[in-house]
Amino acid sequence: MKTIIEPFRIKAVEPIRMTTREQRRALLQGVHYNLFGLHSDDVIIDLLTDSGTSAMSAAQWGAVMRGDESYAGSPSFYEFESAVRELMPFRHVIPTHQGRAAEAILFSILGGTGRIVPSNTHFDTTRGNIEATGASAVDLLLEAARDPESLHPFKGNMDLAALEALLASSHEQVPVVMMTVTNNAGGGQPVSLENIQAAAAIAHRYGKPFFIDGCRFAENAWFIKSREPGQQDRAIPDIVRDMFAVADGMTMSAKKDAFANIGGWLALNDDAIAAAARNRLILTEGFPTYGGLAGRDLMAIAAGLREIVDENYLRYRVRTNEYIGERLLRLGVPIVRPVGGHAVFVDARRFLPHIPPLQYPGQALAVALYELGGVRSCEIGTVMFGLRPDGTEQAASIDLVRLAMPRRVYTQSHADYVVEVFEELARSRDSLRGYRIVKQPAQLRHFTAQFEPLA
Ligand SMILES: *Cc1c(COP(=O)(O)O)cnc(C)c1O
Repeated sequence: MKTIIEPFRIKAVEPIRMTTREQRRALLQGVHYNLFGLHSDDVIIDLLTDSGTSAMSAAQWGAVMRGDESYAGSPSFYEFESAVRELMPFRHVIPTHQGRAAEAILFSILGGTGRIVPSNTHFDTTRGNIEATGASAVDLLLEAARDPESLHPFKGNMDLAALEALLASSHEQVPVVMMTVTNNAGGGQPVSLENIQAAAAIAHRYGKPFFIDGCRFAENAWFIKSREPGQQDRAIPDIVRDMFAVADGMTMSAKKDAFANIGGWLALNDDAIAAAARNRLILTEGFPTYGGLAGRDLMAIAAGLREIVDENYLRYRVRTNEYIGERLLRLGVPIVRPVGGHAVFVDARRFLPHIPPLQYPGQALAVALYELGGVRSCEIGTVMFGLRPDGTEQAASIDLVRLAMPRRVYTQSHADYVVEVFEELARSRDSLRGYRIVKQPAQLRHFTAQFEPLA
């Protein structure tokens, strides 16, 4: 059959509270045109993030009821540990309350002034945790991946020559080589198995551990299966095990590819680093058999990990984004191609060429999507990246709007609705105006900045 259906039925529902355009206009004024300020029940379709917003299955909710809340040695921990090790067979699995806690613990041990941590692209919390120790975070993304028009199948790949050159010149300063799968900051683009193995081999040749930021490991494995030569007949769990077989450790946010609403882990093979990590964990998160989590959360993650590697789910998951992407392209809405695993990125700078970057075309588009259809998205552009530490401003290299898909939450009619909002917007795009910022904090301004529409 051509139609790729949602591979689930719906047993419990959450009503969507409908609002009118007039109501949304007033709400926008009330939050100074910053979508982070909205109450989420004033949003019809919430595509702000795919993090922690997944719908849990009946099996996960059943597992939640079996959660054991013992302080030490809970069976829920051992169920979680064995579910992780089924896919990522690391010697030590250390639960944390979310991904960034795993990063903070890892880099409190491996980071430090003068150190350099290379990756294909660091996610912002990873970069933040590395830089907070005085180390520098370096992105070594493949050149082809920087071109939004390039249809390269693995636009998350590491530039291996650049990694080799960095290690040749500065290996003494490099404590670990990282790889983010999929590359979230780069549009959810995958990394090939060949590239993972080659990057690990380079790291190991210099005696460096190789760690994977595995937040979207299952989506990445699906892309390997569907795009990498020789991988088509392989089972997803086998591809996942191959991805992690060459790694010495990983960080993970269970809010992504574990279908959980909270949680994460740090896993690794080195006994000394694991011992240091557990000491740090006890100080900041909790005892090693629960980390920062309740036993029921560990159970939800264990059940979620068994579901996320299902091919029918992954085919549907990736198709959802492709479907929206294809329909937007047909409407003449420019997007980043190929479509990534967890989101569609709309090129707002090209969609609204009459709005200069310093009048925030991404913000203008995101606000218009909300006003017109109650759709909440996220600007990734000059608002997010344009403020320099000295307080001056510069245009970011891109002005995008990210439509991130929560897992198993919305149906095809919701997707059709989002496309229809764009269709309507495409007709009136010349009338959209830019914004100016009237108030902002010194850093991470996108969360709290206040805007005013330009006349
Ligand atoms: C979300 C994310 C993190 C951080 O995880 P949190 O659970 O949000 O702390 C790290 N890396 C990547 C690639 C992510 O997408």
